[in-house]
Amino acid sequence: SIFSINSKYLREQQFRHKWNDNNIDVSVKELVKTKGEIESTISWFTQHRIYKWLNKNIRKETNWKWSQEVWQNSKITDNKTSTRDNSLRSFSIKLLNEELPTMKVLHTRKPEIYKDKKCPFCNIYDETNTHVFMCKDTPNTLKNTFCYILKKVFTQETGKKTDPNMLKKIYNSHFLQVDIGRQIRDTLPVDRFAYNDLVKGLIPRSIYNIVKNYINQAAITKTVILKTFYKWKEILRSTWIMRCKEFLKWEISNEINEIKKKSKGKRPFDDFEYLELKKQLVQWGKKISIE
Ligand SMILES: [Zn+2]
Repeated sequence: SIFSINSKYLREQQFRHKWNDNNIDVSVKELVKTKGEIESTISWFTQHRIYKWLNKNIRKETNWKWSQEVWQNSKITDNKTSTRDNSLRSFSIKLLNEELPTMKVLHTRKPEIYKDKKCPFCNIYDETNTHVFMCKDTPNTLKNTFCYILKKVFTQETGKKTDPNMLKKIYNSHFLQVDIGRQIRDTLPVDRFAYNDLVKGLIPRSIYNIVKNYINQAAITKTVILKTFYKWKEILRSTWIMRCKEFLKWEISNEINEIKKKSKGKRPFDDFEYLELKKQLVQWGKKISIE
């Protein structure tokens, strides 16, 4: 399958820099200019870090359009300042692209300072971006929080009390189940949209029918879902901020100071094999945008 390619591209940092100095990305950029609407989808898909966890099931079970709307978030909120919006957006993009500086990311960038990829809080799993929301008891708290947000937004938008059956269905949905296996391996073709994907800020398609059953109006259902996910992202961000506070303590106790942290990481090198793969990814990205 096409996904088996990805294990070859584990040296995360290398092409990121090339993406930034953009001489190789002319074709992608031109494409984005002409098709602004699908810009974000394509840029997600042209990053191999996403391809590491995205399989056909998860691709199909994700509501990409709505996920993007929440990501761009301009129409959803009416009360927030633009600064705050931008910070949440930037957080969301980093989260989706595995760019939040977790141990795994730091270890790749600066192995001489961060000698291990393991999460310093549980010492069991690599601290990937997703793991931040899966460490120890975090999933239980966050799953309940997710249901709580939905409950609040539902009442706020419909003026009705939330049916406990709806919340039960949501709580038992596959998208709220933690897939532990995916923490220690790449995604397999059989894997489905799970809590692991929800904490990346993606919206599962299946939530629509569950909620719509209790609202009966498409437009309101959409609003409820988008607002829920906007708040959900704020929760994910607060979780991340809390983790950063704890991480700072860990750094101090391990004598990792500001001077060390500011030292430069390794220089990237050209990965020609990846450039070829990328052309393919752009095609897939286009296909998915149209789907
Ligand atoms: Zn952990």
